[in-house]
Amino acid sequence: MNQTIDLEKFSRYSRPGPRYTSYPTALEFSDAFSYDRYLSFLEQGEGPLSLYVHLPFCRSACYFCGCNVVFTSKEEKLSEYVDYLKREIDLLARHLDTDREVIQFHFGGGTPTYYKAFELDEIMNYLKKTFPNWNEEAEVSVEIDPRFFNEEQMKVFKSHGFNRISFGVQDFDPKVQEEIHRHQPYETTRAAVELARRYGIGSINTDLIYGLPYQTLESFKKTLELARSLDPDRLAVFNYAHVPWLKKTMRKFDETTIPSPEVKLAILQHTIDYLTDEGYEMIGMDHFAKPEDELFGAIAKGELHRNFQGYTTKGGANLIGIGLTSIGEGERYYAQNTKNMKEYEAAIDAGRLPFERGVELSDDDVIRKSVIMELMANFSVDIPRVEAEFGIDFADYFAEPLEKLKEFEEAGLLSISDKKIQVAPTGTLLIRNIAMPFDAYMNKYEGNKKSFSKTV
Ligand code: SF4
Repeated sequence: MNQTIDLEKFSRYSRPGPRYTSYPTALEFSDAFSYDRYLSFLEQGEGPLSLYVHLPFCRSACYFCGCNVVFTSKEEKLSEYVDYLKREIDLLARHLDTDREVIQFHFGGGTPTYYKAFELDEIMNYLKKTFPNWNEEAEVSVEIDPRFFNEEQMKVFKSHGFNRISFGVQDFDPKVQEEIHRHQPYETTRAAVELARRYGIGSINTDLIYGLPYQTLESFKKTLELARSLDPDRLAVFNYAHVPWLKKTMRKFDETTIPSPEVKLAILQHTIDYLTDEGYEMIGMDHFAKPEDELFGAIAKGELHRNFQGYTTKGGANLIGIGLTSIGEGERYYAQNTKNMKEYEAAIDAGRLPFERGVELSDDDVIRKSVIMELMANFSVDIPRVEAEFGIDFADYFAEPLEKLKEFEEAGLLSISDKKIQVAPTGTLLIRNIAMPFDAYMNKYEGNKKSFSKTV
């Protein structure tokens, strides 16, 4: 069913807010969570594992990019980093039961395919030697920049059981590409997608971004049509996070060319209508999938989960972050590696994991995380589940957030009963705003415009 957005009403909700890939958000990570505490969590951990390896290098900057990236054209830097990764994996193996089952793996970046095929193979072989127990149905995925992708690399991915590929596109419009400093002809993307298909990759995702300079509703319509012509299984259509106080390259944009909240909402409205008409369904925030996709089935069962890599059906695994800046997640902690390459290397040279900071979750954090992540993934909260799991009276415990949600209820964006908070289809567009009242840390950032990107 197509949704109709009241552009004027919705644009009023445009305010800084987290994207909730974690709760508490990364702003709460600090060195109060100690290295020894992190090690004890690793040592006591049990159950399945999700491994994330960060390959931070890129050839040149895309100006919209919010990732932690190292720009280089020096091949030796890339190969040195592989050696450090292997040593980090060895260090992890000292503190972690490496026989735990791996149910999920993700190569993220940077540009993972900036690496040559033999280096990607080397990293995968080393990981599999160290963690030998991979589930046959593990979700094995990689982010690929179509401008850096060849058949040799595809063969390596195939040989290691990769079954999901996400292609970075962002926008096909030449003017937008020029402004964001990412020249990527449609034919390049098409060739990359076809290569992956030839090797039997059954789950192909394309990433688009709306809210970029010079985008208009008309230009984005064309981008969407071109993306659709690639027949992806999933599309992620992200809201551009403009945070020039954090990312210098974003300062290169002429802010007057960035579309207004009204234009962004018009783009989003069109995106939802168009993709729905084309047979896709909206899944969580920013994501669309064909109805046969397993993510779609997971929503019906309430099993969709959200983590740093987006949405997944593989919940419950401890996420181990490997490499510069990567983030790990356990039931009661988040742990992040250093973002500084020199510090990363120095830690490993000294025989320590390159852990820098993190947060240990209090009982209250765990409860709020459960509610916020359920909202972000399933657009609803099963109140009896929360009460049974945590032994609380929901109405009592969350009296303040429930009061704040009345505004959304009155606007028809959600409904609240004794059993359920259910976000209406139009309310899903404001899911970050709807989750924010449950965030115990938001008060700290009230009035600080530079804490988060805008929700609309
Ligand atoms: S968008 Fe991708 S390729 Fe561009 S700078 Fe960021 S990580 Fe590198």
